[in-house]
Amino acid sequence: MAHEKSIGITVKKADDMPEWYGQVVVKSGLADYAPVKGCMVIRPYGYAIWQRIMDYFNGRMGKLGVENAYFPLFIPESFFKKEAEHAKGFEPEVAWVMNRDESQEKLALRPTSETIMYDSYSRWVRSWRDLPLRINQWCNIIRWEVSDVKLFLRSREFLWQEGHCVYESEKECDRETIMMLDEYEKLCHELLAVPVLKGKKTEKEKFAGAHYTTTIEAFMPDGKALQCGTSHNLGQGFSKAFNISFLGKDGKMQTPWQSSWGFSTRLIGALVMQHSDDKGLVLPPSIAPYQAVIIPIIFEDSREKVLKKAIEIRHKLKDMRVFLDDRDQYTSGWKFNEWELKGVPLRIEIGPKDVEKDQVILVRRDTGKKEPVKIADLNEKAAELLETVQSDLFKKAQKFLKDSIVEVKSWKEFEKTIKSKKIAKALFCGGVDCEDNIKAKTEGANSRCIPFEQKNVKGKCVHCGEEARFWTYFSRSY
Ligand SMILES: [Zn+2]
Repeated sequence: MAHEKSIGITVKKADDMPEWYGQVVVKSGLADYAPVKGCMVIRPYGYAIWQRIMDYFNGRMGKLGVENAYFPLFIPESFFKKEAEHAKGFEPEVAWVMNRDESQEKLALRPTSETIMYDSYSRWVRSWRDLPLRINQWCNIIRWEVSDVKLFLRSREFLWQEGHCVYESEKECDRETIMMLDEYEKLCHELLAVPVLKGKKTEKEKFAGAHYTTTIEAFMPDGKALQCGTSHNLGQGFSKAFNISFLGKDGKMQTPWQSSWGFSTRLIGALVMQHSDDKGLVLPPSIAPYQAVIIPIIFEDSREKVLKKAIEIRHKLKDMRVFLDDRDQYTSGWKFNEWELKGVPLRIEIGPKDVEKDQVILVRRDTGKKEPVKIADLNEKAAELLETVQSDLFKKAQKFLKDSIVEVKSWKEFEKTIKSKKIAKALFCGGVDCEDNIKAKTEGANSRCIPFEQKNVKGKCVHCGEEARFWTYFSRSY
């Protein structure tokens, strides 16, 4: 039994969230620390989740007319400096490669790919007939900002997708910037069961070089927001800097509008923190690499009979992602613990007594609830349970998010709300200096987003007392 204990999580989520999180990610086999400072290793179980996210999103992008492509990891320094705000924004975190031939220019390892992609776009876009141009790239990104890795949340290298589009008009660009944000929300809600707040970033928090940035923000149980995806309307700044122009329908040369949008392997971090518990990972069925695990309870005298039934069940559940754990070298108790740690939504137990009764025992990972189910009803019952688990996880997280938002009327209330690890919804002037001061005075609370729906914007900024421009969500963040 000592061994069974040692593979489990040794701290409680409520007591020490960072330690708990690290243990869940490593012990469930999602990822590991790397020998290189600031980097992580994504293990097969974690990569299977990323792959499911990619499959889902590739399917959605196909329907929206976005195509996948690949651009170089190296970005010439001169490209990088063409858009001044962009260059300035990324300067502190760019890793440079020195060319062996010193007469050649320095190369940046991509912290994002606007510049290298738009150089190509300037040759590919000629006429209105080439638009809209919608290209996505799945790749790795290098940002040399941190040395302490937080698996999936903060690392010098991570995986992401970045979409880059070109449009004839501002209106079209606006519409699709929001359309992609809506896609991100859908992905978080349907696949990951992670509810998000949607809105615009403030001037201080917008993407370097963007006209405006929109975002989806999840809220973690330790009272910190986690940015899960952003979609930027880039305006015409990059088009001008990279000489992208097209012959319009009116026969004149025009400057197009551009957007870019991205989410990263951070989503896996959000998923883990949102749902998991003191026993380990809890995965929503839609994203789980295995939705159910069958564990035969083996005794020597009934071995054949039980295994035969387990295989039969495995075949019966062919529409589900099911693993039959018939490994001989582990006890069933050990297997229960391991699959609990790995967050498989349903456990299907079958022992000799169950075979006699023509039943199995179904156990939910999220609630621990057990029930006997007749084998004849198993397909239907298991499918139904998976749907229930998915929607229960979402509802629980959504309730937590809603309960965490406090509409504050004064600076005193604002400070109290941030201290109590909640989200302050406050009237805000939108000023960059004002936001800097808020951050300094509250030990790190910053604006998360300006919700799209604004009602009763009347009064003074919660902090500086200037005329307020909008309601804004503030909290600490990852
Ligand atoms: Zn203010």
